[in-house]
Amino acid sequence: MEQWKADLRNSVTRGENITQDFAGDREEIEEVRAVYPMRIPRYYYNLIREKGDPIWMQSVPSLAELQDTDSPEDPLHEDEDSPVTRLTHRYPDRVLLLITDRCPMYCRFCTRKRMVGRTSDITERTVTAGIEYIRAHTEIRDVLLSGGDPLMVGDEKLESIISRLRAIPHVEIIRIGTRFPCVLPSRITDDLCNMLKKYHPIFLNTHFNHPREITPQSREACERLVNAGIPVGCQTVLLKGVNDDPEIMKELMHKLVMMRVRPYYLYQTDLTRGTNHFRTRVEAGLQMIQALRGHTSGFAVPQFVIDAPGGGGKIPLMPEYVVAFDEKEILLRNFEGRLYRYPQPAEEYVRDVREIEVINF
Ligand SMILES: *Cc1c(COP(=O)(O)O)cnc(C)c1O
Ligand code: SF4
Repeated sequence: MEQWKADLRNSVTRGENITQDFAGDREEIEEVRAVYPMRIPRYYYNLIREKGDPIWMQSVPSLAELQDTDSPEDPLHEDEDSPVTRLTHRYPDRVLLLITDRCPMYCRFCTRKRMVGRTSDITERTVTAGIEYIRAHTEIRDVLLSGGDPLMVGDEKLESIISRLRAIPHVEIIRIGTRFPCVLPSRITDDLCNMLKKYHPIFLNTHFNHPREITPQSREACERLVNAGIPVGCQTVLLKGVNDDPEIMKELMHKLVMMRVRPYYLYQTDLTRGTNHFRTRVEAGLQMIQALRGHTSGFAVPQFVIDAPGGGGKIPLMPEYVVAFDEKEILLRNFEGRLYRYPQPAEEYVRDVREIEVINF
């Protein structure tokens, strides 16, 4: 058996284990995991220092999950916007294809909590139907493989999916979204990287939420991917009590770029049922960006987004850098809060302003 599969099998899946090591509440954990499954890879579990710390909060079930009964199960309308099972076609030129509903770890704040580790409607048949849909829609140039975690699929089966996608002439980019480098880095083997690099351009987005998740092992996993020529990005979720502190966020971003992982998105927590206790106010996200932009390398600053409830897609948010804007000039605020004016060119030099979509501030 491959090492990562043995590691996965050795995960913490029962409340007893946790109560033995920490003074956790076994009944609480058991009650919650009967509804929302638990799995914590031993590697990630070993990063917990004490009950309630940022590693614990992301991985150990909490009664708060069951107390949130009013939030929608699928706030992003992923299922509604699905022309075939587990394929979401929301944007004109790219699709999201879920190839498994299993994950190495069941993150307590997961936006797909309705399905991960619970449903089993993803089969070879649905994946093949998804690939056929992509083949039939020539406007699709970017395919995002997700789940669950797509690297739960073994190398051979994964290669069969990726090679079929790569054979479609209009598919330019294949992307993988995976939390493995963070929660079970042994999955990122040379064999996996050597397989993936045959199908370039492959992009990969991973998911780290706290600087303590960056260890020699996770670093090696990310560097192995980057060394295979795969651009690695990071999608971070803003989580109350985990990373909603500008200093922690900055440290995380710095540690990411040190292992050549480029921060991509910082997500406002979705409205997903069972995750309400992780939501921050939107201002907290804006504050993170304000603390980063200008104060650190531009490429260490992610884009803060809200994935709009109802399926509107990701909408970027920025702190107020534009103070005023008219035909003559724009008044700007810089990262230190100072004001600067940038004059517009004289009317006669403008190509044809009517061609440019007018943005009203
Ligand atoms: C996030 C997402 C994508 C990819 O969006 P990018 O902004 O290109 O990263 C595509 N489809 C769906 C349904 C998504 O949620
Ligand atoms: S790995 Fe991703 S899909 Fe799986 S539970 Fe965590 S956040 Fe959700």
